[in-house]
Amino acid sequence: MGTDRIIIIGSGIAGAATAYFLTRKGLRDIVILEKDKIAGAQSTGRNAAILRTMIPEPVINRLARESADFYHNPPADFSDGPLVDPVGVYLAARAEYKPTLNQWCDANPEARLERVSAKPIYDKIPILAPGLEAAAYAADDGVLDVHAILQGFIRGATREGTQLRLNCEFKGLKVGNGRVQGVDTSDGTMEASKVVVANGAWTSIASLFNEYALPFTPYRRHLLVTEPLSEVNPRWPVIWIVGEEFYFRPESGGLLMSGCDTVKVTPEQGEIVEQTQLERIADKASFWLPSLSEAKVARAWSGMRTFAPDDMFTIGNDPRIQGLIWVAGLGGHGITCAPVVGSIAADCVVHGKSDHPAASGMAPERLLR
Ligand SMILES: Cc1cc2nc3c(=O)[nH]c(=O)nc-3n(C[C@H](O)[C@H](O)[C@H](O)COP(=O)(O)OP(=O)(O)OC[C@H]3O[C@@H](n4cnc5c(N)ncnc54)[C@H](O)[C@@H]3O)c2cc1C
Repeated sequence: MGTDRIIIIGSGIAGAATAYFLTRKGLRDIVILEKDKIAGAQSTGRNAAILRTMIPEPVINRLARESADFYHNPPADFSDGPLVDPVGVYLAARAEYKPTLNQWCDANPEARLERVSAKPIYDKIPILAPGLEAAAYAADDGVLDVHAILQGFIRGATREGTQLRLNCEFKGLKVGNGRVQGVDTSDGTMEASKVVVANGAWTSIASLFNEYALPFTPYRRHLLVTEPLSEVNPRWPVIWIVGEEFYFRPESGGLLMSGCDTVKVTPEQGEIVEQTQLERIADKASFWLPSLSEAKVARAWSGMRTFAPDDMFTIGNDPRIQGLIWVAGLGGHGITCAPVVGSIAADCVVHGKSDHPAASGMAPERLLR
């Protein structure tokens, strides 16, 4: 084997963060392959950009809190401006969902949140329909500048020699002597000693990985942004209504909203916008924000959230073959958690494992049992 090259498949937040943290460890021969003509245009460019650390699952909650520290205090040369607008995030519930909300909070005693009544929400958003009774509030959470974050990771990596190959599609692994030897791509074969799989929803395409495939599934979700609305204060917090599958936050003078649809798709179906799903969002918005029921949609889109069967992230070395590392199944929290995801993935590439306390729960071997 004549190469120490590391190939990363995918230039979304997972691949970009991994490349960034590999270069922080001094590695230089890194190539990111991206099938599209621009970086990060799939899930990373199609999400709600919410920094939400109040995640019920304790392992992911921990990754989110540690990643939030990075976003609030990034390295000096990472970006020109702040990465988070800390407008605050409320998880709010009607009386019947108070136990669910409490369970979420109880499962994460170290989470930085306040348990409050719904009053502060109504004080801030007087047009919200009555009915909410309890909330958990994370004052430092808010809206992420996803573009700046992705560029920060990619710029930080390419400054240290990482190559970003756009319009270059990974077609299959090259394997020999029990280890990864390289990849076949639309530009020909490339040698590598390590291959990092970070291609989002396309991790579900078993034929790309043959006997090394793992069981990932993409689910499509819609978002819309209304036209600017005089009733909306751009400093409103993010409101996530537990049990109602509805969230909204200020965006571009209007509101960004989701009805939290979760429809299993293939990657080719990931960008299809279904009118029925937009109507579902509109119905929820009319209920919770009745004075905005005539608001016009400025734009609407969909994207994919990709999950392993147990909904846990999958980060780590594939036990079946040397040199294959997965950074996949980041579901609905990939942007929030990217700094710690990338750092754990880089440890796995360099040392074969990570000592982070969350790493063992995310290792790929659990998917082989
Ligand atoms: C509607 C919606 C709302 C969301 N809201 C939030 C939120 O508010 N906060 C949050 O933290 N997360 C959110 N998420 C989740 C977040 O967007 C994802 O977890 C994250 O973007 C996943 O990043 P990724 O790098 O794994 O995948 P992607 O961003 O999809 O990157 C994978 C890349 O691999 C490339 N690729 C695929 N196949 C190949 C191939 N064969 N060869 C070369 N390149 C290939 C793709 O083109 C793509 O660029 C949301 C997701 C959706 C869909």
